[in-house]
Amino acid sequence: MIKFTLKCVKEHNFEAWFPSNEAYEKQIFMGLVACPICQTVEVQKAIMAPNIKKPSPKMPQNIANPEIENLPENLQKLITGYREKIAKEYDYVGDKFADEARAIHYGESEERAIFGEATPKQANELIEEGIEVAPILPILNPKKDKDLN
Ligand SMILES: [Zn+2]
Repeated sequence: MIKFTLKCVKEHNFEAWFPSNEAYEKQIFMGLVACPICQTVEVQKAIMAPNIKKPSPKMPQNIANPEIENLPENLQKLITGYREKIAKEYDYVGDKFADEARAIHYGESEERAIFGEATPKQANELIEEGIEVAPILPILNPKKDKDLN
């Protein structure tokens, strides 16, 4: 059974139970539902008031990449710490990441930890070649909010 709040042409609101939405449509169509106040069969579902639910809090625009300034202070510290660690211990190679990762893997370049940008296709190719790569969250990228030089 479904309970609908109905409204007649004279703006009387009343509630009525129906076995299903289909039954409701049918009974309305056949004129079987009358307003209990003025007996008119010209009734329809009332527009439900929007105050039943509180508006849900706004989600961050991009949950995977929120602005660090909007995060709690302890989380900001943690992220800043990670960014500094990455900036210090990893060599930034920019969009040469795939080439450089490959060069290191095959011993053509000095072995070191690097980070940079790679397309999902490039990342997949590296993984297929057995080269270990891991995505870093955009927010942990120390090059975020900075010049890429
Ligand atoms: Zn009525």
